[in-house]
Amino acid sequence: MSLESIIQTALDLAAAAYDAFFVGVLGLPDQRDIWITTSGNPCIFCRHMAQLSQRVNVPVGHPFPVPNYSILVYMNAQSITLIEPARAHDNCQCARVTVPVP
Ligand SMILES: [Zn+2]
Repeated sequence: MSLESIIQTALDLAAAAYDAFFVGVLGLPDQRDIWITTSGNPCIFCRHMAQLSQRVNVPVGHPFPVPNYSILVYMNAQSITLIEPARAHDNCQCARVTVPVP
């Protein structure tokens, strides 16, 4: 099994668990927040945050599910997703954007 497929499986499981929790508690929202990368070469953490946020319904203003990258050091990894703009690390060009739920 390739590293990419292991990561994809982990993302699928995290997305399913996240949706089961928040949609189960709050119901399906009218709007949700997504993580947008604007850098031409975002880091792997931010690429996965953006990918994961496309797959789950993150309620507006709620935390994103954060992949656990123990090999990388991010300041306040558990709280970075609550701030605006979404600055995960130095030189991060990401933004939190609210969009309608399709
Ligand atoms: Zn970023």
